[in-house]
Amino acid sequence: MTTPRLVDHVIVGSGFAGLCAAIKLQEDGETDFVVLEKGSDVGGTWRDNTYPGATCDVPSQLYSFSFAGYDWSNSYSPQPEIQAYVQQVAAESGTLDRFEFDAPLTDAAWDDAAQRWTVTTPRGVWSARFLIVGAGALEEPKLPDLEGLEGFHGEVFHSARWNHDVDLTGKRVAVIGTGASAIQIVPELQRVAGHLDVYQRTAPWVIPRNDRPYSRLERAALRRVPGLRRLYRTGLYWSHEAYVPAFTLQPKIAAPAKVLALKNIDKGIADPVLREKVRPTFEFGCKRVLRSNTYYPALAADNTELVTDPIAKVTGTAVVTEDGTEREIDVLVVATGFHTTDLPIAHHLRGRTGHTLAERWEQTGMAAYKGTTVPDFPNLFLLVGPNTGQGHTSMIFMIESQVAYVRDAIRTVRRRGLAAVEPRADATAAWNRSLQRRMRRTVWTTGGCQSWYLDEHGRNTTLWPRSTADFRRRLASFDMEAYS
Ligand code: NAP
Repeated sequence: MTTPRLVDHVIVGSGFAGLCAAIKLQEDGETDFVVLEKGSDVGGTWRDNTYPGATCDVPSQLYSFSFAGYDWSNSYSPQPEIQAYVQQVAAESGTLDRFEFDAPLTDAAWDDAAQRWTVTTPRGVWSARFLIVGAGALEEPKLPDLEGLEGFHGEVFHSARWNHDVDLTGKRVAVIGTGASAIQIVPELQRVAGHLDVYQRTAPWVIPRNDRPYSRLERAALRRVPGLRRLYRTGLYWSHEAYVPAFTLQPKIAAPAKVLALKNIDKGIADPVLREKVRPTFEFGCKRVLRSNTYYPALAADNTELVTDPIAKVTGTAVVTEDGTEREIDVLVVATGFHTTDLPIAHHLRGRTGHTLAERWEQTGMAAYKGTTVPDFPNLFLLVGPNTGQGHTSMIFMIESQVAYVRDAIRTVRRRGLAAVEPRADATAAWNRSLQRRMRRTVWTTGGCQSWYLDEHGRNTTLWPRSTADFRRRLASFDMEAYS
C-alpha cells in the first residue's frame, strides 16, 4: 500500500471555492495543504463550460472575489475572461505549488483511530486532519433519458463538454433544453447553423441583460480611484439582494421584473403564436430567472424552429416528437443541466460509521449544518454544500462566507487543542427544520414549477431561503456549542 503523504489540510477542487479556501488558509499561516484537482487546470465549472456564448449572468464586479479585483472588459464577463481571472488569482496567490492536477478524488475515508482523513487519488494518497471539499454543485452533466440517444449517428455533446472540433457552419443542429446554458448557446448557434431546432419543455422567464463593454475611462477609474470598485460592488450587491423578498416571501413583489420579462418577449418576437409558446406558465423566480437580449430574436429567426411537442425518441439521424414529426439533424446539443441534488462526490466520502455521505443522504435527503458540516463526518467542510445556492446573486459571496466559517472552525480546533469537530445531530436537525419551514413560503416551492433546486421528493436541498447577508451573519464565527 502507498504510504500516505501527511498534510494538515486536503482541499478538493480548484474552482472559486477550492481556490478561496487555499488562499485564506495560507493567509492564516495554515500553509500545509494540498489542493486536489480532477482537471488539468484551475477554474472548475468555468474551465469546463466553454460553450459558445458562455457568459456569467451576474455582473463582473460582483462575480469575483472581494479580495481580488480585475480589469473586466464588460459589465458581464465572458467565460474566457473569468477563466483568465481565476488563473491569475491562483498564480498571484503563491499557492499553486501545492496544487495536484489530474488528481480526481476516488475515496476519502475518516480513520477514527488516527483522527484523520485518508484521501485517495490516482496520483497518490494523502492523510489530512481537515478535508475541505469545493467540488462544485454544477459539476456532473445530466444527460436526458431519451430512447435512442446512444444510437444517434451524428455528433452529440452536453453543453458543459462542448466539442470544439465540430464545425457547425451550415449544419442542421438541435438543442435540447431552454435553461441558463441553452439561452446563451441558441443565439450563437442560430448565427452559424443552417437550421436550428430548439426543444423546449418549459418556457423560462428571461429578462434583458444590460451587458456592455466598459469604456476606457470606466476601466481606468475602477482600477485607480480608491474605493470606487468597492462602492460599485456594494451597489450591485444590494440591487441584487432586493430580489430576495420576492423569491422567499411574496412573489407579487416581482411584478415590475415580470413586466420587463414580458416586454422582452414582445421586443424580440413579432409572431403572436411564437410569443405565446415562450410565455412562462409558472411564477417568476420559481426557476432561475435568465438574462438575455438575444435569445428571443434568435428563436424568431427564419432558420430556427422552437419545438414544444415532447420528444418521443432519437433515431440515428433525427429527433422524433410525440406528434410523430421527425426532424433530421447533423448535431445534437444537450443543454439539460447537472446532477445537483445527488452530488457525485458524496459517493466518495466515508465518515466515522463507514457509510458514505451519499448513503446518509439517501435516508435524510441532502442536508448539512449551515450548509457546511455533517454529523459523523468529523473535520469535513463542504463548500457550496446543501442549501447554500441562490438564484439572484453571486455564489462567490456565499463561498467567502463559508470559507470564513471554516477558518474560524480550524482556529477553534487549534486553540482548544481538539482533535476533531463534528456538528451535533440535534443542532443539524434543528437547522434543517427551520430551513425547510422557511422554504414552504418560497416561490421555489409555491411557484408551480419543477426545477433542479428540488430533489425527487420535491424538497429544496440546494437554495438558501433568506438573504445572503443573513447567511454571512450566521456563519461569521464558529459556533462550538453546536458541535461535539
Ligand atoms: P438547467 O437550468 O437545469 O436547464 C436544463 C434544461 O434542459 C431545462 O430547460 C430543462 O427543461 C431541459 N431538459 C432537461 N431534461 C430534458 C429532457 N429530458 N427533455 C427535454 N428537455 C429537458 O441547466 P443549465 O441551463 O445548464 O443551467 C444550470 C445552472 O447552471 C443554472 O441554473 C445556473 O445556476 C448555472 N448557469 C449559470 C450561468 C451563468 O451565466 N452564471 C450560465 C449557465 C448555467 P425543464 O425546464 O422542463 O426541466
